[in-house]
Amino acid sequence: MTSLRYSVANSIDRQLTAFERQVAQRQGRTVTLMDGSMGEELADRGFSTRDGLWSARALIDHPNEIVALHQEYLSAGAEVITTNTYSTVPSYLAKAGLGDRVRELATSAAELARKALDEFDKPNGARVAGCLPPLDESYRPDLVPAAYEAIPIYRDLIDSMAPSVDLFLAETMSSIDEAQHVAEALRSSPDFAAFEWMVSFTLDDRDGTKLRSGESVTEAVKALSVQKPIAILFNCTTPQSILDGVGCAHKVTTCRVGGYPNRFKPVPEDWTLDDDQEIMRDAGLTRDKFVSWSNRFLDAGASYLGGCCGIGPSYIEALARNLHARSS
Ligand SMILES: [Zn+2]
Repeated sequence: MTSLRYSVANSIDRQLTAFERQVAQRQGRTVTLMDGSMGEELADRGFSTRDGLWSARALIDHPNEIVALHQEYLSAGAEVITTNTYSTVPSYLAKAGLGDRVRELATSAAELARKALDEFDKPNGARVAGCLPPLDESYRPDLVPAAYEAIPIYRDLIDSMAPSVDLFLAETMSSIDEAQHVAEALRSSPDFAAFEWMVSFTLDDRDGTKLRSGESVTEAVKALSVQKPIAILFNCTTPQSILDGVGCAHKVTTCRVGGYPNRFKPVPEDWTLDDDQEIMRDAGLTRDKFVSWSNRFLDAGASYLGGCCGIGPSYIEALARNLHARSS
């Protein structure tokens, strides 16, 4: 693959960012700071919708706001920014009659993230991760499509984003099968050797030793470790569940582990994005509490930190300040 910006060999040997190097030297391991919420943050700012199209709406109507938000995360200290491709999948786009624009919108989202990084005035070695999301709603293992349906869609997303991203991030995976579909899509690409990827599972909000499918974190981590992701993460669930997941994962894999929680109350089991049931924000998860949870993730073995829905740039900035303080 000539278009993916780093080969595996280069990425393994790549220069650590100044911050990663500093933490690695002081603590004996590397900590990588990811960004925070994209879709929820755009919706909060009035640039997206909570109906079917969700954050893809901003790709069409407000692309500059996406670039600006990526750059806010970079300014806050993020070393990985994630493409706004959470809803550039057929199931969401079809609700607005745009089901044939998957490749075009995924390409555009990846180019916007790359532009944000290329035009950022304080380069810090950050990288762009291409988001590979669930294909039919979030948190719904019961709606995960069969492999023969899912893998071609993931291939479309991968091929569309590859020219502009540095790695891929399969996120909010609610079952082992769902994550394996992404892994298979990556492996089926003739350019697989050039792909670096991370997988992130969403967990039961009340029992972080389990995925939302009920499968155990231990089982999931073992199953995906053989697919050679550079990290196995947990996202879009409560901080307590992230902590439990990181603790379980750290015991059974040599991959780097980590997590990025949301700021939601536990999600109703049958929830969909265009549902009448609103997911409630957890107003109690202040910046300080988010930082102290992140410290607990580190103590449990995490080396990737960040935020998911409801965690904006000010939270990531607070986390960056805390990490600098811990490393000095
Ligand atoms: Zn989320």
